[in-house]
Amino acid sequence: MAEKKFDYFINGENGKWEVIIGLEVHAQVLSKSKLFSSSSTKFGAEPNTQVSLVDSAFPGMLPVINQFCIEQSIKTGLGLKAIINLNSVFDRKNYFYADLPQGYQISQYKKPLVGEGEVILDMPYGTKKVGIERLHLEQDAGKSIHDIDPDNSFVDLNRSGVALMEIVSKPDLRSPEEVNFYVKKLRSIMRYLGTCDGNMQEGSLRADVNVSVRKVGDSQYGTRCEIKNVNSIKFMQMAIEHEAKRQVEILESGKKIDQETRLFDVKKNTTRSMRSKEEAHDYRYFPDPDLLPLKLNKGLIDKLKKELPELPDQKKDRFIKDHNLSPYEANILVSEKEISDYYEEMIKECDKKLATNWITVELFAVLNKNNLSISQSPISAKNLSSLVKMITLGKISGKIAKDVFEKMQVSDKDPKQIVEEEGLVQQSDPKELEKIVLEVLSKNQDKVIQYQSGKVKLFGYFVGEVMKVSKGKANPNLVNDILKIKLK
Ligand code: MN
Repeated sequence: MAEKKFDYFINGENGKWEVIIGLEVHAQVLSKSKLFSSSSTKFGAEPNTQVSLVDSAFPGMLPVINQFCIEQSIKTGLGLKAIINLNSVFDRKNYFYADLPQGYQISQYKKPLVGEGEVILDMPYGTKKVGIERLHLEQDAGKSIHDIDPDNSFVDLNRSGVALMEIVSKPDLRSPEEVNFYVKKLRSIMRYLGTCDGNMQEGSLRADVNVSVRKVGDSQYGTRCEIKNVNSIKFMQMAIEHEAKRQVEILESGKKIDQETRLFDVKKNTTRSMRSKEEAHDYRYFPDPDLLPLKLNKGLIDKLKKELPELPDQKKDRFIKDHNLSPYEANILVSEKEISDYYEEMIKECDKKLATNWITVELFAVLNKNNLSISQSPISAKNLSSLVKMITLGKISGKIAKDVFEKMQVSDKDPKQIVEEEGLVQQSDPKELEKIVLEVLSKNQDKVIQYQSGKVKLFGYFVGEVMKVSKGKANPNLVNDILKIKLK
């Protein structure tokens, strides 16, 4: 599909402004232990129970690189169609804060593990390519807690040293909506790969959002502000909206934007200044003398490439080509790995189009209503496919299927069993149906006369009456055929 332009502008006093957004996503590497120590990364533990001497920076402790975290990051890089650098370097990023006992964060600066790549977004107005600038590995800091006690602050070091992939996009995003699609797609790719669980409530995915504005038609970027550590897509969108408007107002009043780091205040729905933006040189980056440069051999990368699972874009193409689905349907099915797994489980047994409809219409309605994900679905893929199969084979009507579907939500019983127990099998015996048809017609002789004198719309009425008498069990195709004959 061709790349189309999306018009999202902020209307100012004297013209239209375009919003330029770049994201630095911090994605926690899915790994049982930390980047440089063997401490557990399990979420929700008591404070300071998952802290080794390395994580708490005791003097003389040396970091030991976790090979698994490196492989996870390479896989992520491959999933972003990015260049993997055979030589990369860990640097110290120096700053002081109570939750960073080392006094520096081990990160990568000039030579990151992963270079340029891309992510494709399926926007409602067409596909959009978002460039990836780089992906580097770094440690997370601990957590400062200021809201337990008015007189004291606390520090929990459980997160200290947890591996993060910082994925930096190019400033290619142009609206809060594109940010929504971008973060979801990134998350989906990593979940397919099994390299990050993408759980935003648990802080596994956070983003620093860079926002600037410029007059439509300008080719240079304006001064940007960075909004730190936003942990939900909705908040990212709110922060961007607010920040872009703030910048437009400043510029239109003839003032200049100060490059600064800002915080998003969820309660007030506003951003406020945190500090004037530091430059890279303020951090006094230098290669960490405790760690050798990271040298990879090409064999490892080739091996990981071969082991890559099918990713959402490929799966989508396959569904369109082999299953005859529309791009829209395929997109929904591949948006989360668990949805595509459910679908693929279903179509082992039943029709692909019907499976798609039942998942995206009926099942999604139930899941949304109960606020469940598909992996928590009250109805298994096996039983839903069994239901669909009964419709295709003409054992039950579409209407009865919906009743059975209701019952399946309460107990995930095999629908065949429900149909048998409740005597819901479709009535397909022509003689039985003929009886019902004749009964309906004799009760409605006035309408029969109207029909025969040209009021053909009444046909639907007769069908409805037959269905009513049969309690919805009559085979509608047969009913149609018999009615047509009898009404002649
Ligand atoms: Mn970072």
